[in-house]
Amino acid sequence: MKQKGILIVVSGFAGTGKSTVVKMLAEKYSEQYALSISMTTREPRKYETHGVEYFFSTKEEFERTIAEDGFIEHACYIGNYYGTPRKYVEEQLEAGKDVLLEIEIQGALQVKEKLPDTMLVFVMPPSAEILFNRLKGRGTETDDVIRKRMLRAVEESQGIEQYDYILVNDDLDVCVEGLHQMIQSEKLRASRNIPFIENMRKELVDLKKGEV
Ligand code: 5GP
Repeated sequence: MKQKGILIVVSGFAGTGKSTVVKMLAEKYSEQYALSISMTTREPRKYETHGVEYFFSTKEEFERTIAEDGFIEHACYIGNYYGTPRKYVEEQLEAGKDVLLEIEIQGALQVKEKLPDTMLVFVMPPSAEILFNRLKGRGTETDDVIRKRMLRAVEESQGIEQYDYILVNDDLDVCVEGLHQMIQSEKLRASRNIPFIENMRKELVDLKKGEV
């Protein structure tokens, strides 16, 4: 029987490069990972395509999906809704893929409460100053939105201890590989491998019986 995949939540302040990290990870090890695409009521940025970065929706469509229990989690972030569609995640986990969710902290904690086996990773910038410069340099946001995102970062920084791991994004390639290694270790946690351990015990007993 194929082993079920694990669910990995990656969060981090806006501007830490977490979207790029999860995207690169999913591309580099495409047989292992599936990247969930969220639904949002936010306006698409110039370079974004419906069905690639997000499923862009109206408030009505989003609220209908909430009513139909179509999300694993959802949250409001700076005036817009964001949610993780349930169906894709469940199908991919069943198929044995490790599923990556790149979501903010309220959603991350909802997922951990519903599915305690979820691995939570928080991506950090090397320093607050670097974060601010990255946000400004991105050039996709107005000064007002940058200010709101920095304020939000101050709030989010209060919750980091609730995550299982932190990951510093200094060098992108190192960070992607670091995340992959973290996940590989997590998958080897003894408590995640009970069927394998039990089977080993049974085989040992059977072998010992055959000996006498
Ligand atoms: P952005 O508007 O910059 O794409 O994303 C804003 C924030 O929403 C980011 O912190 C991102 O991780 C988070 N986010 C994206 N998709 C989801 C989702 O499905 N659920 C939740 N709770 N947060 C999300």
